[in-house]
Amino acid sequence: MSDAAAVLEAVEVGLEKKRSVPEKPPERLTARRDAAHATVVRVGDVAIGGGVPVVIAGPCSVESREQLLAAAQGVKAAGATLLRGGAYKPRTSPYDFQGLGLEALLILREVSERTGLPVVSEVMSTEDIEVVSDNVDMLQVGARNMQNFALLRRLGKVRRPVLLKRNPAATVKEWLLAAEYILAGGNDQVVLCERGIRSYDPELRNTFDIGGMVLAKTMTHLPVIADPSHATGRRDLVPAVSRAALAAGADGLIVEVHPHPDRALSDGAQSLNIEDFAAMMQDLPVTVG
Ligand code: PEP
Ligand code: MN
Repeated sequence: MSDAAAVLEAVEVGLEKKRSVPEKPPERLTARRDAAHATVVRVGDVAIGGGVPVVIAGPCSVESREQLLAAAQGVKAAGATLLRGGAYKPRTSPYDFQGLGLEALLILREVSERTGLPVVSEVMSTEDIEVVSDNVDMLQVGARNMQNFALLRRLGKVRRPVLLKRNPAATVKEWLLAAEYILAGGNDQVVLCERGIRSYDPELRNTFDIGGMVLAKTMTHLPVIADPSHATGRRDLVPAVSRAALAAGADGLIVEVHPHPDRALSDGAQSLNIEDFAAMMQDLPVTVG
Protein backbone atom coordinates (compact mmCIF):
# COMPACT_ATOMS: atom_id res chain seq x y z
CA MET A 1 0.00 0.00 0.00
CA SER A 2 1.31 3.46 -0.83
CA ASP A 3 1.90 5.91 2.02
CA ALA A 4 -0.99 8.04 0.81
CA ALA A 5 -3.34 5.04 0.80
CA ALA A 6 -2.22 4.07 4.31
CA VAL A 7 -2.93 7.59 5.57
CA LEU A 8 -6.36 7.56 3.97
CA GLU A 9 -7.13 4.22 5.55
CA ALA A 10 -6.06 5.43 8.99
CA VAL A 11 -8.24 8.52 8.59
CA GLU A 12 -11.16 6.31 7.62
CA VAL A 13 -10.72 4.13 10.73
CA GLY A 14 -10.60 7.27 12.90
CA LEU A 15 -13.73 8.65 11.24
CA GLU A 16 -15.57 5.38 11.71
CA LYS A 17 -14.82 5.59 15.44
CA LYS A 18 -15.99 9.20 15.63
CA ARG A 19 -19.22 8.36 13.79
CA SER A 20 -20.19 5.69 16.31
CA VAL A 21 -22.31 7.19 19.06
CA PRO A 22 -20.79 7.08 22.57
CA GLU A 23 -21.74 4.03 24.58
CA LYS A 24 -24.79 4.67 26.73
CA PRO A 25 -25.05 3.30 30.26
CA PRO A 26 -28.21 1.19 30.78
CA GLU A 27 -29.57 3.91 33.10
CA ARG A 28 -28.66 7.60 33.07
CA LEU A 29 -25.95 8.19 35.65
CA THR A 30 -27.99 11.04 37.12
CA ALA A 31 -31.21 8.98 37.41
CA ARG A 32 -32.68 8.21 40.79
CA ARG A 33 -33.36 4.50 41.25
CA ASP A 34 -35.71 4.77 44.24
CA ALA A 35 -36.67 7.07 47.08
CA ALA A 36 -33.67 6.06 49.18
CA HIS A 37 -31.14 6.75 46.40
CA ALA A 38 -29.37 9.99 47.33
CA THR A 39 -25.82 11.11 46.67
CA VAL A 40 -24.10 13.03 49.40
CA VAL A 41 -21.69 15.64 48.05
CA ARG A 42 -18.82 16.56 50.36
CA VAL A 43 -17.34 20.03 50.32
CA GLY A 44 -14.55 20.15 52.88
CA ASP A 45 -16.24 18.71 55.95
CA VAL A 46 -19.74 19.82 54.90
CA ALA A 47 -22.17 17.23 53.50
CA ILE A 48 -24.78 18.34 50.96
CA GLY A 49 -27.68 15.96 50.41
CA GLY A 50 -27.31 14.07 53.65
CA GLY A 51 -30.72 15.07 54.99
CA VAL A 52 -29.78 18.28 56.80
CA PRO A 53 -30.03 21.27 54.45
CA VAL A 54 -26.97 23.52 54.18
CA VAL A 55 -26.76 27.27 53.67
CA ILE A 56 -24.08 28.73 51.41
CA ALA A 57 -23.84 32.50 51.79
CA GLY A 58 -21.61 35.40 50.86
CA PRO A 59 -21.27 38.21 48.38
CA CYS A 60 -22.02 37.97 44.68
CA SER A 61 -18.45 39.15 43.98
CA VAL A 62 -15.31 39.30 46.05
CA GLU A 63 -14.50 43.02 46.19
CA SER A 64 -11.80 43.26 48.87
CA ARG A 65 -10.29 41.30 51.75
CA GLU A 66 -12.22 43.42 54.27
CA GLN A 67 -15.54 42.94 52.46
CA LEU A 68 -15.16 39.17 52.18
CA LEU A 69 -13.92 38.72 55.74
CA ALA A 70 -16.82 40.75 57.16
CA ALA A 71 -19.29 38.77 55.05
CA ALA A 72 -17.72 35.44 56.01
CA GLN A 73 -17.67 36.16 59.73
CA GLY A 74 -21.24 37.47 59.61
CA VAL A 75 -22.71 34.54 57.69
CA LYS A 76 -20.81 32.02 59.81
CA ALA A 77 -22.12 33.55 63.03
CA ALA A 78 -25.64 33.34 61.55
CA GLY A 79 -25.28 29.61 60.79
CA ALA A 80 -24.04 29.34 57.19
CA THR A 81 -21.52 26.53 56.73
CA LEU A 82 -20.15 27.41 53.28
CA LEU A 83 -18.96 30.71 51.82
CA ARG A 84 -19.65 31.95 48.30
CA GLY A 85 -17.85 34.71 46.39
CA GLY A 86 -17.38 35.33 42.68
CA ALA A 87 -13.90 35.87 41.25
CA TYR A 88 -14.73 35.55 37.54
CA LYS A 89 -18.11 37.16 36.94
CA PRO A 90 -20.38 36.42 33.98
CA ARG A 91 -21.89 39.87 33.46
CA THR A 92 -24.53 40.64 30.88
CA SER A 93 -22.74 43.85 29.90
CA PRO A 94 -19.02 44.00 29.13
CA TYR A 95 -19.00 47.43 30.81
CA ASP A 96 -20.03 46.07 34.23
CA PHE A 97 -17.60 44.94 36.95
CA GLN A 98 -16.04 41.69 35.75
CA GLY A 99 -14.58 40.36 39.02
CA LEU A 100 -11.10 40.50 40.56
CA GLY A 101 -9.99 37.17 39.07
CA LEU A 102 -6.88 35.63 40.61
CA GLU A 103 -6.69 38.19 43.43
CA ALA A 104 -10.24 37.23 44.44
CA LEU A 105 -9.26 33.55 44.52
CA LEU A 106 -6.37 34.34 46.85
CA ILE A 107 -8.67 36.36 49.10
CA LEU A 108 -11.19 33.50 49.12
CA ARG A 109 -8.48 31.09 50.15
CA GLU A 110 -7.20 33.32 52.92
CA VAL A 111 -10.68 34.02 54.31
CA SER A 112 -11.55 30.35 54.10
CA GLU A 113 -8.47 29.50 56.16
CA ARG A 114 -9.24 32.22 58.70
CA THR A 115 -12.89 31.30 59.18
CA GLY A 116 -12.81 27.54 58.49
CA LEU A 117 -15.60 27.94 55.90
CA PRO A 118 -15.11 25.97 52.67
CA VAL A 119 -15.70 28.16 49.61
CA VAL A 120 -17.50 27.96 46.30
CA SER A 121 -16.66 30.14 43.31
CA GLU A 122 -17.56 30.18 39.64
CA VAL A 123 -15.33 28.91 36.87
CA MET A 124 -16.25 30.38 33.48
CA SER A 125 -13.71 28.82 31.19
CA THR A 126 -11.74 25.59 30.81
CA GLU A 127 -8.46 27.47 31.03
CA ASP A 128 -9.30 28.70 34.56
CA ILE A 129 -10.27 25.28 35.99
CA GLU A 130 -6.84 24.57 37.40
CA VAL A 131 -6.32 27.88 39.18
CA VAL A 132 -9.86 27.92 40.56
CA SER A 133 -9.53 24.29 41.75
CA ASP A 134 -6.25 25.13 43.45
CA ASN A 135 -7.86 27.84 45.55
CA VAL A 136 -11.48 26.92 46.27
CA ASP A 137 -13.36 23.85 47.52
CA MET A 138 -16.26 23.73 45.07
CA LEU A 139 -16.51 24.91 41.45
CA GLN A 140 -19.68 26.70 40.35
CA VAL A 141 -20.92 26.46 36.77
CA GLY A 142 -23.02 29.56 36.26
CA ALA A 143 -26.44 29.59 34.63
CA ARG A 144 -25.04 31.00 31.40
CA ASN A 145 -22.55 28.14 31.10
CA MET A 146 -24.92 25.27 31.92
CA GLN A 147 -24.55 23.89 28.41
CA ASN A 148 -20.89 24.77 27.89
CA PHE A 149 -20.10 21.18 27.04
CA ALA A 150 -16.33 21.66 26.83
CA LEU A 151 -16.40 23.02 30.40
CA LEU A 152 -18.70 20.23 31.63
CA ARG A 153 -16.51 17.53 30.10
CA ARG A 154 -13.41 18.92 31.78
CA LEU A 155 -15.22 19.17 35.12
CA GLY A 156 -15.90 15.45 34.82
CA LYS A 157 -12.17 14.98 35.27
CA VAL A 158 -11.50 17.26 38.24
CA ARG A 159 -11.36 16.13 41.83
CA ARG A 160 -13.57 18.93 43.10
CA PRO A 161 -17.34 19.01 43.69
CA VAL A 162 -19.34 21.05 41.19
CA LEU A 163 -22.36 23.33 41.74
CA LEU A 164 -24.33 23.28 38.47
CA LYS A 165 -26.80 26.12 38.11
CA ARG A 166 -29.82 25.77 35.87
CA ASN A 167 -29.89 27.97 32.81
CA PRO A 168 -32.95 30.29 32.92
CA ALA A 169 -34.20 28.84 29.64
CA ALA A 170 -33.37 25.17 30.22
CA THR A 171 -35.86 22.39 30.85
CA VAL A 172 -35.28 20.17 33.85
CA LYS A 173 -34.26 17.37 31.46
CA GLU A 174 -31.64 19.57 29.77
CA TRP A 175 -30.30 20.55 33.20
CA LEU A 176 -29.96 16.89 34.21
CA LEU A 177 -28.28 16.05 30.89
CA ALA A 178 -25.77 18.81 31.57
CA ALA A 179 -25.02 17.11 34.91
CA GLU A 180 -24.80 13.80 33.04
CA TYR A 181 -21.75 15.13 31.14
CA ILE A 182 -19.92 15.65 34.45
CA LEU A 183 -20.89 12.25 35.83
CA ALA A 184 -20.02 10.53 32.54
CA GLY A 185 -16.53 12.01 32.87
CA GLY A 186 -16.12 10.33 36.25
CA ASN A 187 -17.08 13.03 38.77
CA ASP A 188 -20.29 12.24 40.69
CA GLN A 189 -19.88 15.10 43.17
CA VAL A 190 -22.44 17.40 41.56
CA VAL A 191 -25.03 19.62 43.27
CA LEU A 192 -27.81 21.15 41.16
CA CYS A 193 -29.06 24.68 41.80
CA GLU A 194 -32.42 26.14 40.74
CA ARG A 195 -31.87 29.89 40.36
CA GLY A 196 -34.97 31.05 38.54
CA ILE A 197 -36.11 30.76 34.97
CA ARG A 198 -36.91 33.56 32.57
CA SER A 199 -40.46 34.78 32.50
CA TYR A 200 -42.30 37.92 31.49
CA ASP A 201 -42.54 40.04 34.64
CA PRO A 202 -39.86 42.75 34.78
CA GLU A 203 -40.59 43.29 38.50
CA LEU A 204 -38.81 39.98 39.12
CA ARG A 205 -35.35 39.24 37.78
CA ASN A 206 -36.39 35.61 37.23
CA THR A 207 -39.19 33.27 38.30
CA PHE A 208 -38.32 30.74 40.99
CA ASP A 209 -39.39 27.39 39.57
CA ILE A 210 -40.33 25.50 42.69
CA GLY A 211 -42.11 22.80 40.69
CA GLY A 212 -39.02 22.31 38.52
CA MET A 213 -36.85 22.07 41.63
CA VAL A 214 -39.10 19.38 43.14
CA LEU A 215 -39.29 17.58 39.79
CA ALA A 216 -35.49 17.51 39.60
CA LYS A 217 -35.37 15.96 43.06
CA THR A 218 -37.72 13.18 41.98
CA MET A 219 -35.64 12.48 38.85
CA THR A 220 -32.11 12.50 40.24
CA HIS A 221 -30.17 11.27 43.25
CA LEU A 222 -28.02 14.41 43.15
CA PRO A 223 -28.70 17.10 45.78
CA VAL A 224 -30.73 20.10 44.59
CA ILE A 225 -30.41 23.50 46.24
CA ALA A 226 -32.14 26.84 45.65
CA ASP A 227 -30.79 30.31 44.94
CA PRO A 228 -33.49 32.75 46.10
CA SER A 229 -31.26 35.76 45.32
CA HIS A 230 -30.91 35.34 41.55
CA ALA A 231 -34.40 33.79 41.39
CA THR A 232 -36.02 37.04 42.55
CA GLY A 233 -33.51 39.86 42.14
CA ARG A 234 -35.01 41.50 45.25
CA ARG A 235 -33.70 41.19 48.78
CA ASP A 236 -37.14 41.70 50.33
CA LEU A 237 -38.36 38.49 48.64
CA VAL A 238 -35.37 36.34 49.56
CA PRO A 239 -36.52 35.14 53.03
CA ALA A 240 -39.97 33.95 51.87
CA VAL A 241 -38.57 32.18 48.79
CA SER A 242 -35.89 30.56 50.98
CA ARG A 243 -38.56 29.24 53.35
CA ALA A 244 -40.62 27.94 50.44
CA ALA A 245 -37.63 26.14 48.91
CA LEU A 246 -36.70 24.42 52.16
CA ALA A 247 -40.32 23.51 52.91
CA ALA A 248 -40.48 21.88 49.45
CA GLY A 249 -37.43 19.73 50.18
CA ALA A 250 -34.42 21.66 48.88
CA ASP A 251 -31.09 20.28 50.10
CA GLY A 252 -29.90 23.78 50.82
CA LEU A 253 -29.76 27.43 49.83
CA ILE A 254 -27.18 29.72 48.26
CA VAL A 255 -27.84 33.29 49.34
CA GLU A 256 -26.11 36.56 48.44
CA VAL A 257 -25.05 38.51 51.53
CA HIS A 258 -22.98 41.70 51.56
CA PRO A 259 -21.84 43.79 54.54
CA HIS A 260 -23.05 46.92 52.65
CA PRO A 261 -25.44 45.85 49.86
CA ASP A 262 -25.92 49.41 48.64
CA ARG A 263 -22.21 49.63 47.83
CA ALA A 264 -21.99 46.21 46.15
CA LEU A 265 -20.24 46.09 42.77
CA SER A 266 -22.70 43.42 41.58
CA ASP A 267 -26.18 42.25 42.56
CA GLY A 268 -26.63 44.68 45.47
CA ALA A 269 -30.43 44.85 45.04
CA GLN A 270 -30.79 41.16 45.81
CA SER A 271 -28.14 40.98 48.55
CA LEU A 272 -29.14 40.85 52.20
CA ASN A 273 -27.09 42.66 54.81
CA ILE A 274 -25.71 40.55 57.64
CA GLU A 275 -28.40 41.52 60.11
CA ASP A 276 -31.25 40.65 57.75
CA PHE A 277 -29.55 37.39 56.79
CA ALA A 278 -29.20 36.47 60.47
CA ALA A 279 -32.90 37.24 61.00
CA MET A 280 -33.83 35.07 58.03
CA MET A 281 -31.75 32.18 59.38
CA GLN A 282 -33.71 32.33 62.64
CA ASP A 283 -36.95 31.92 60.76
CA LEU A 284 -36.27 28.93 58.48
CA PRO A 285 -38.84 26.09 58.55
CA VAL A 286 -36.20 23.36 59.06
CA THR A 287 -32.96 22.98 60.97
CA VAL A 288 -29.94 23.70 58.76
CA GLY A 289 -26.38 22.69 59.47
C1 PEP B 1 -23.86 34.22 40.78
O1 PEP B 1 -23.97 33.21 41.50
O2 PEP B 1 -23.46 35.32 41.19
C2 PEP B 1 -24.33 34.12 39.38
C3 PEP B 1 -23.81 34.85 38.42
O3 PEP B 1 -25.35 33.25 39.25
P1 PEP B 1 -26.13 32.74 37.93
O4 PEP B 1 -25.10 32.02 37.11
O5 PEP B 1 -27.17 31.84 38.50
O6 PEP B 1 -26.70 33.96 37.26
MN1 MN C 1 -24.79 37.33 41.72
